[in-house]
Amino acid sequence: MSESAPDLLHTEHYPTSTSVEAFRERIALVQQRIDAACVRYGRAAGDVRLLTVSKTFGIDRIRLAYQAGCRLLGENKVQEAEGKYEALREELPDLEWAVIGHLQSNKAKSVARFASEFHALDKLKTAEALDRRLQIEGRSLDVFVQVNTSSEDSKFGLPPEEVHAFVRELPQFSALKVKGLMTLALMDADPERVRPCFALLRNLRDQLRNDIAHAENIRELSMGMSGDYEVAIAEGSTIVRVGQAIFGARATPNNFYWPVSDTATTS
Ligand SMILES: *Cc1c(COP(=O)(O)O)cnc(C)c1O
Repeated sequence: MSESAPDLLHTEHYPTSTSVEAFRERIALVQQRIDAACVRYGRAAGDVRLLTVSKTFGIDRIRLAYQAGCRLLGENKVQEAEGKYEALREELPDLEWAVIGHLQSNKAKSVARFASEFHALDKLKTAEALDRRLQIEGRSLDVFVQVNTSSEDSKFGLPPEEVHAFVRELPQFSALKVKGLMTLALMDADPERVRPCFALLRNLRDQLRNDIAHAENIRELSMGMSGDYEVAIAEGSTIVRVGQAIFGARATPNNFYWPVSDTATTS
């Protein structure tokens, strides 16, 4: 595959990291590709943060990632994240957690207790529940509003046309620090079908900052994963969420988590 056409779907080829050195190598490799993409697409060096995603991987592998330098890990399921937090909080007190997947409002209490970031806010009920618990805990939480940029029914996130009204409601929840927007692009082998999802999120952020007085802190775009982070950087990503390119292939295929578009099966 040429550099300009990353393999967006066939993530089963990622080698499994089973040592600190392997983690260091994989992280360095991803970081090099991020840096190169920044140069290629005219982004400032250091504009893009790498968020390592540890979902489905056990405590032993997480320890290795920590020893290789990871201090913040992304998890898409609250229960799994909380279990890992509990298992490691005393041993690795400076390891922080980002919840990047859908949250039911009845789990807000848990997230308010242990998470540093929440990337999948898409309901006022959840915002309210989080804020209430955070006020009790005396904490605040960095949040990202999830947008469904691929208009697939099976994906979480707000339809783009509802994002303005949603963001206007958020200042009432003072414990939520709204940092930006998040999306999962279409799962497709063709970068030119993936790109419009990322471009849509960037345009939406720019419009919010222009249209809403309190939106000047909404800067971040949490977008791009192992298969598509270079396309995301080309379109303005400031946080890429990368799991398999660092930990190795997951046992569960992508279509276990998200729909994979029609052209994917033919490529
Ligand atoms: C799993 C996951 C990722 C990372 O996907 P990889 O293919 O492992 O890089 C990114 N974002 C979300 C929301 C995820 O659930």
